[in-house]
Amino acid sequence: AQFDHLLGSTAPIRVSFEFFPPKTEKMEETLWSCIERLAPLRPSFVSVTYGAGGSTRERTHATVARIIRETNLAPAAHLTCVDATREEVDQVVRSYKSAGVNHIVALRGDPADGMGRKYQPHPGGYASTPDLIRGIRKIGDFEISVSAYPEKHPESPDLPADIQLLKRKVEAGATRAITQFFFDNDIFERYVDRVRAAGIDIPIVPGIIPVLDFERTAGFARRAGASVPAWLANRFEGLERDEKTRQMVAATVAAEQCFDLVKRGYRDFHFYTMNRADLVYAICHLLGLRPVPDAKAEAAVASVGAAA
Ligand code: FAD
Repeated sequence: AQFDHLLGSTAPIRVSFEFFPPKTEKMEETLWSCIERLAPLRPSFVSVTYGAGGSTRERTHATVARIIRETNLAPAAHLTCVDATREEVDQVVRSYKSAGVNHIVALRGDPADGMGRKYQPHPGGYASTPDLIRGIRKIGDFEISVSAYPEKHPESPDLPADIQLLKRKVEAGATRAITQFFFDNDIFERYVDRVRAAGIDIPIVPGIIPVLDFERTAGFARRAGASVPAWLANRFEGLERDEKTRQMVAATVAAEQCFDLVKRGYRDFHFYTMNRADLVYAICHLLGLRPVPDAKAEAAVASVGAAA
């Protein structure tokens, strides 16, 4: 209630956190300290991204399985159509089902060798996201989140085509959309109006990226087709070598964006954490979230301590 004057509402704020699967033991440690710090904020769910290729797929699965084993968090596993037959993808979905995962973030994905190459469906694979969603639905009653692009996907001819694709994803069974990050809330609000006018009624959850490193984030934005307002560049100007101030500014910028979205009626936020806890923790704190200890996580930490 102490934040009502900032938020203009008493409705609860719900957050979710996105992580990427670690490649090395060191990265695994970083991820787990991040999860341990953020878990007490009781997110609605935490999601783990997915890359093409066998080893990265296994890393997603291993990370999700560990989240189930050691925490009370509800994990969502990202899954793409890239470079895999339907049978291979179905196998991954079945393995999630038997591991107790009931939420999948279903995506088309990008070609495995990165930039430049155009997406081609695998000859024996799911051709598109709606196709993948139908495949997942045949295997189990999953919650299915999908992507949404307030400034359109870079490969999309125009925004109406993108919104029609989102509509097909919903018709196939998607239950929530998470947006690509954006910085201009007016663009997001106009997008949601158009989505609603197209008859799409699933929640559209804004994806929020904390700007840890402005140049890097601007690079992501260029590739993702997200615009970077001049005021944002201006806020980080001259802070290239001043990480401490940069972090404070980044927390402020993201919190302001969230406060403004709350005033516009949004209550759910999906944070792209990049496996770094501090900024996201600070932003959630500013939004009024406070930690609640998790008995299962504490028991897991205690048993690791006892074994050591
Ligand atoms: P869609 O929304 O299904 O399609 C995007 C555009 O691609 C369409 O508008 C259309 O123009 C074009 N298109 C669609 N189908 C076809 C087709 N069959 N042939 C040719 N063009 C087509 N990437 C990962 O690799 N792993 C992840 O875990 C991951 N997580 C993400 C989570 C979120 C919330 C978001 C927003 C993105 C994520 N991405 C991830 C990035 C995503 O894979 C890329 O943006 C990719 O280019 C599109 O996948 P999509 O599901 O968003 O595509």
